[in-house]
Amino acid sequence: MGSELLQTPIEYLKGVGPQKAAILAKELEIFTFENLLLYFPFRHEDRSAVHQIKDLNEDMPYIQVIGRFQDVSMEGAGPKKRLKATLYDGTGMIEVVWFTGVNYISKYIKPGLRYLVFGKPSLFKSSLTVAHPELEEYHEEVALQKGLTPVYNSSSALKQSKISNKQMTGMIRNLLEKLSGAIPENLPASLLSAYQLMPRAQALASIHLPPDHHTLAAATRRLKFEEIFFIQLKALMARIGRQQNHKGRILAQTQLLKNFYDLHLPFALTGAQKRVIRELFEDFKSGKQMNRLLQGDVGSGKTMVAFCAMLIAASSGAQSCLMAPTEILAEQHYRSLRAYADPLGIKIGLLTGSTRKSDRQVLFQSLEAGELYVLVGTHALLEDPVQFHTLGFCVIDEQHKFGVAQRARLWRKGGDFHPHILVMTATPIPRTLAMTVYGDLDVSVIDELPVGRKPIVTVVRYDADRLKVYQFVREQLQKGSQAYVIYPLVKESEALDLRNVEDGFLNIQKVFPEYTVAMVHGQLKSADKEAQMQRFVSGEAAVLVATTVIEVGVNVPNANVMIIENAERFGLAQLHQLRGRVGRGSDQSYCILLTDYKTSSDSKHRLRIMTKTTNGFDIANEDLKLRGPGDLLGTQQSGLPDLRLTHLGTDGQLIAEVRAEVEKLLDFDPSLSLPQHSMVRAFLKEEVRKKGQWSKIS
Ligand code: ADP
Ligand code: MG
Repeated sequence: MGSELLQTPIEYLKGVGPQKAAILAKELEIFTFENLLLYFPFRHEDRSAVHQIKDLNEDMPYIQVIGRFQDVSMEGAGPKKRLKATLYDGTGMIEVVWFTGVNYISKYIKPGLRYLVFGKPSLFKSSLTVAHPELEEYHEEVALQKGLTPVYNSSSALKQSKISNKQMTGMIRNLLEKLSGAIPENLPASLLSAYQLMPRAQALASIHLPPDHHTLAAATRRLKFEEIFFIQLKALMARIGRQQNHKGRILAQTQLLKNFYDLHLPFALTGAQKRVIRELFEDFKSGKQMNRLLQGDVGSGKTMVAFCAMLIAASSGAQSCLMAPTEILAEQHYRSLRAYADPLGIKIGLLTGSTRKSDRQVLFQSLEAGELYVLVGTHALLEDPVQFHTLGFCVIDEQHKFGVAQRARLWRKGGDFHPHILVMTATPIPRTLAMTVYGDLDVSVIDELPVGRKPIVTVVRYDADRLKVYQFVREQLQKGSQAYVIYPLVKESEALDLRNVEDGFLNIQKVFPEYTVAMVHGQLKSADKEAQMQRFVSGEAAVLVATTVIEVGVNVPNANVMIIENAERFGLAQLHQLRGRVGRGSDQSYCILLTDYKTSSDSKHRLRIMTKTTNGFDIANEDLKLRGPGDLLGTQQSGLPDLRLTHLGTDGQLIAEVRAEVEKLLDFDPSLSLPQHSMVRAFLKEEVRKKGQWSKIS
């Protein structure tokens, strides 16, 4: 019903044609009627109201007035030429000015006639002025535009090819007329009435051409609801599908864990760590394949939790693997796991891009023979020659660097059973973001830091304070502590970045001649990187100068001071990650954010948040509000769905509500086969069909 009409190529719409169709396709990816229907305006203007000039002030948005011009005059010459006039309406006067198209406008304006003028009042040399207003001759019989006028995003190519906002609006009008009665509902009637949602067809018409603000808000709410509904539905159906199709290997033995717990545990686990280990154990025993996200703040001890779960797997005769995003991290995980595992006699291997060929052979053999119980590595783990004997459990650390396709490759290494999967995030992400991006995963949270951790003291300092800052760091070094000095990394200019760190390195060596200074940055070969890191880890180097390559997961508990240069250049999530490198030991730790006096108020706000809280969940929420989800998830995140209307920072409440509704619906009717859910099913089917088509094209 209607779906064929919606898939009509856009060139067949009245007022479009092949030429405009080509531009719409190229500039806006609008190929079909449906694409245009879903190309929502980014704001609306109120052209129904006319103001009186006496009521205007510079804080007003775009407004309309009706009046006559007087004192029309051309001023200046060359590029400074401008047309000035005074507009009066019987209640007051206002200055009007144009800088371009002045000849045309000066001819258009006729004394004595009335004009409808649309523009933004602002204060110029203390008199109220409207620059570049839109202008139209006004007669009593000219009806004012009813309702709100949509404003569509427009590229310069669109403007050049003369597809104006007015024309876009015209196309939309034609489209809505053409589609009348052909837009099917896709939400169940029970939800429409429970949430008082506008019917779909009306909402799609009203989001373009709303009669008033109230209707626009209702249309937007309805369409947001729908957007979230289908994201959640797909995620939860994927989860159901997996659970039906893939049995989980049952891992129910715990001897090794008991042994470790009673004899070798290096510290008492936090309550949260114990709880999460129990959650994992429940999944392992359940016969269902686990797909779980582990959220925990920086330093909350996720690695130990993963290791305990590996011991359950090993007790039950299954192998585990841990995949990290960088070699440095893989090596570090390898070292810490070996320290735990060696006393238990459990064999652990390391596989990265730099593992030698001869070592690989040995590794692969003992892996296939089932002698090697844990394999730690980078995405080298995904390569084909890596064959396990019985892979039962995979840990993916700092997931955002891995795509969904890579997750799937890991699954296939489990043989008859997909392995249980634990994804550990680098930084906590807000619950509603997790629901959206990792909606198909169950979530565990470590919401407690190990006891005895002192909150990191964080301060903002300026260039002028540098000597004092160095003096402070020296005092810490004299106590036997170590320090980080971090430089920002800007992709646009790798050469410049390198110079920054290298200059920084020379400077720090001069400032602290009595100490050894190490340096790591992205341009070093991985062996050199490793050697430099090793000097810092072993304590030989007291100071590590680095770029953000050390950002994720590096663990040197003896380091208690961090200086972050140009702190204003970092995002909140990144600052939090970096700061998490200190505060890992029992000493009081410090993070010094160096910045310019002159930074944007945005950056100041970010730095202030850093000084106020060390709670990663709070910081993540702030970040989501400030910058949206991109920054939090990292640039390589591929799981973020395309959201037209929903704002993850402000629509949290709605996301949670809709998620709960979808869960209820699927509990009741997991295959959407009941008649009251037929429209949902039909819509999903159509989506899948279209996706197939487009993927064939692109
Ligand atoms: P993250 O969650 O950031 O990956 P790690 O697993 O690297 O954190 O743990 C951070 C540090 O805390 C490590 O040095 C680890 O040995 C230590 N740690 C983990 N759990 C505890 C605990 N329960 N008590 C004390 N220290 C712990
Ligand atoms: Mg970690």
